[in-house]
Amino acid sequence: MGKVTGFKEFERKNISYAPVKERIKHYDEFITPLNKKEIVKQGARCMDCGVPFCHSSYGCGVANLIPRFNDLVYKGEWEAAFRTLMSTNNFPEFTGRICPAPCEGACVLGINDNPVNIKSIEYAIIEKAYKKGWMKPQIPKNKTGKKVAIVGSGPAGLAAANQLNKAGHSVSVYERDKRIGGLLRYGIPNFKLDKKKVVQRRVNLMKEEGVEFITNAHVGVDVSVKKLQKKYDALILCGGASEPRDLPISNRDAKNIHFAMEFLSQCNSKVEGESFSKEDEIVATNKRVVVIGGGDTGSDCVGNSIRQGAKSIMQIELMPKAPPIRDANNPWPLFPRIFKLSSSQEEGCDMDFNVLSKDFIKDADGNVSGINCVKIKWGEKGFDEVEGSEFVLKADLVLLAMGFLGPQQSGLIAELDLESDERSNVKTRGFATSKEGVFAAGDMRRGQSLVVWAINEGRECALEVDEYLSKKPSMLNSKDGSLYEYKVLKN
Ligand SMILES: Cc1cc2nc3c(=O)[nH]c(=O)nc-3n(C[C@H](O)[C@H](O)[C@H](O)COP(=O)(O)OP(=O)(O)OC[C@H]3O[C@@H](n4cnc5c(N)ncnc54)[C@H](O)[C@@H]3O)c2cc1C
Ligand code: SF4
Repeated sequence: MGKVTGFKEFERKNISYAPVKERIKHYDEFITPLNKKEIVKQGARCMDCGVPFCHSSYGCGVANLIPRFNDLVYKGEWEAAFRTLMSTNNFPEFTGRICPAPCEGACVLGINDNPVNIKSIEYAIIEKAYKKGWMKPQIPKNKTGKKVAIVGSGPAGLAAANQLNKAGHSVSVYERDKRIGGLLRYGIPNFKLDKKKVVQRRVNLMKEEGVEFITNAHVGVDVSVKKLQKKYDALILCGGASEPRDLPISNRDAKNIHFAMEFLSQCNSKVEGESFSKEDEIVATNKRVVVIGGGDTGSDCVGNSIRQGAKSIMQIELMPKAPPIRDANNPWPLFPRIFKLSSSQEEGCDMDFNVLSKDFIKDADGNVSGINCVKIKWGEKGFDEVEGSEFVLKADLVLLAMGFLGPQQSGLIAELDLESDERSNVKTRGFATSKEGVFAAGDMRRGQSLVVWAINEGRECALEVDEYLSKKPSMLNSKDGSLYEYKVLKN
């Protein structure tokens, strides 16, 4: 612990955002990070707790060695901080931007003060590492001769590929989309995570390290799983949980009602220069947009609709509004369930809670023109409609952002005839599926989650696959920072 009284002397400082008027004119990232002097002070706020809850199971999903890198940043030992960070997290440039930071929710300082700004410190370390050239390709010295195919290039697939490649196995990643990254590329908006400057930067590095990427390869549809099983020594399925929850109310077949991901994937593809035909393109320009679902996916729809010039945006949610501070059944160190406007909501949208969509209204041309809604009241056994509270929301575009049910069952899962759990996710013991040599990780195994958990799944699965292939304890097993990565970096 560098500065014993740091937490008493320094206030938490947050990153700032470009003014709304400016940032809604473009799709670029709009944060202004803290400067070096300020980051050092933020590191000094860490109390180096005896039990650091920030990296307990309540906190960081990859068990980042947070007090250690906080201290190193405070002391100005940035390269050591970088190596410490990389020892547990393959992609801090992603999590440093888009992680909701459960570590901060669990930070001990957060009990009676503002938690340490861990996410900003993580961002500062990794961006400095890129600038200084410390992020070099880690090419394995020895190859094992074993071959692994990974299906899906989201954060789980990328983390597994990164780890297994370091262990000397030959790794090929099969991706059905045109570009690599899964939801990092097609779901999360560019203004939160830049596709070329951040996602592609890392993909390029992984290519230099020897990972093979095969795009436009839909396994179970264009590419036979059986052939992959013959060609590779192990198969890891990281296909995500892309089956969206639908809203099967009357007039669901009206035109201009879309799942959030149909809209978001187009928005992200357009930022990368792709175009769509008039019939296929989903646009919010000059439309009254209603987003159904009050979570982050809905919020991403709001941010994109604003940038496209929507006439109005209303986001509705079935659940009540979260309280402004933790309530009694959500104590520290649990992830705080409190209401906070997202940066996209801040840019301008109306919101309403406890709203049930009863049916869609369709005009004479078959287009959606509104939604019949009613307010609801939650009780012990669910909700009741509030009598007399019916209202109509006018809409020209409706985006359904009500979560995801699980992985797509047709194709890959069906061809392999894999067992599923009660939530329709791929059932595993450890990370091994019901089929010999086939493993699963990420949202496909645990259900829709967070990037940090997907990275963790990819890492843990890689460890198991490494042991399966080499029949001995894995070198990848280093959660203590003693560090396989150190050795590789020094070579
Ligand atoms: C709109 C949106 C915004 C989000 N924002 C955040 C956020 O800000 N922060 C956060 O922490 N989490 C966020 N999440 C959640 C997070 O993105 C996911 O939990 C995470 O990406 C899951 O990683 P994954 O690798 O398991 O799957 P995915 O990222 O879904 O990747 C799966 C990949 O597998 C490919 N694939 C599937 N089947 C096949 C097949 N048969 N053949 C070949 N390829 C296949 C898919 O095309 C896809 O590229 C968001 C989710 C959504 C939907
Ligand atoms: S819980 Fe907070 S104060 Fe304690 S070690 Fe972790 S970051 Fe530092």
